[in-house]
Amino acid sequence: MTAVRYRLGDTGPAISEIRTKLTLLRLLDDTAPGPDVFDEDVDRAIRQFQQERGLTVTGVVDATTYRVLDEARWRLGDRLLSYVVANPQVGDDVMALQRRLCELGFDVGQVDGVFGSRTGDAVRELQRNVGLNPDGTCGPSTFKALGRLAPLVTGGRPDSLRASELLRRQGKRLPGKVVVIDPGHGGHDVGNTGYGLEEATVVEDLAARIEGRLAATGVEAYLTRGPGSDVELDERGRAKFANETGANLMVSLHVDAHPNPEASGVATFYYGGDRPGTTSAIGEQFAGLIQREIVARTDLVDCRTHAKTWDLLRHTTMAAVRVELGYITNERDAARLSDPEFRDVIAEAIVVAVQRVYLPSGEDAPTGVLHLRDLAQA
Ligand SMILES: [Zn+2]
Repeated sequence: MTAVRYRLGDTGPAISEIRTKLTLLRLLDDTAPGPDVFDEDVDRAIRQFQQERGLTVTGVVDATTYRVLDEARWRLGDRLLSYVVANPQVGDDVMALQRRLCELGFDVGQVDGVFGSRTGDAVRELQRNVGLNPDGTCGPSTFKALGRLAPLVTGGRPDSLRASELLRRQGKRLPGKVVVIDPGHGGHDVGNTGYGLEEATVVEDLAARIEGRLAATGVEAYLTRGPGSDVELDERGRAKFANETGANLMVSLHVDAHPNPEASGVATFYYGGDRPGTTSAIGEQFAGLIQREIVARTDLVDCRTHAKTWDLLRHTTMAAVRVELGYITNERDAARLSDPEFRDVIAEAIVVAVQRVYLPSGEDAPTGVLHLRDLAQA
């Protein structure tokens, strides 16, 4: 990955390009001719863009922000859209297409702006329905059909209803379900450090505890990296691994850090942004269950759940969540995380949350009371 990094005070041709993109998105009112300075206005616009897109708000144009800024320029109809296996098309036009297909009742999976195989299938299905050649490629005649058809589903969240229906059909029994556990760091990458503790050590140990418990309930569990593994996957690589296992759920484990030693608590993240229709309904539900189970069973501060569009959450095809299990830079959180009994409690909370995703609302148990022995067996 290229080390793109532009921030307040930088100048040059790249900055004028960023300014042009922000102007086209109406985030910057750029009337001055040929400015190439990353000034306060650009900083503000980038922060607003990051906020709207569910990215981490830093005001710094890093590789991810740069890429998402580039994807934002595409409008539906600007280019042909189709499923390219090796290098899927990504952009706002793909997201507009997915949202439209979704309103028309076609199943695109997650509305994430990534043209994957399910989006291709949905386009083919649409083409068959309107008597076009079902080649899966969106060109002028398909765009025209998309504009002509009246939405079948108005209001609400058709993707969310479909996701819940699919989940119900999978049944509540855990055996046969597939869950990917992602220790967020390991090997050369120790992650955050504090109070003699490394993030990688905590999350690898926790992953093993969760894996054991899931296996005991009959769930097929995969780790994105085993202990001592030297495979270094970036977020997209981890997403790809998870997609290839055909997993139903994914949990990515992290421990946070902050310059302020007072910062503490647990937070859980799921795929979503401010724009309508982009939130993963099951992801949101799963994140809420994990967060509530952990908060009910421990004395970690509740930093709530949040929608983000981080690569791992966006490029996974199953409901994926990321948990930040306290702050390693906080003395109390670090002491908790060093305690094996505490890690067992966290592991149990996450396994119970996995079970609760599949329980019909009538059979669900109150938060904090289910234990491993209560979970649905074969
Ligand atoms: Zn981390």
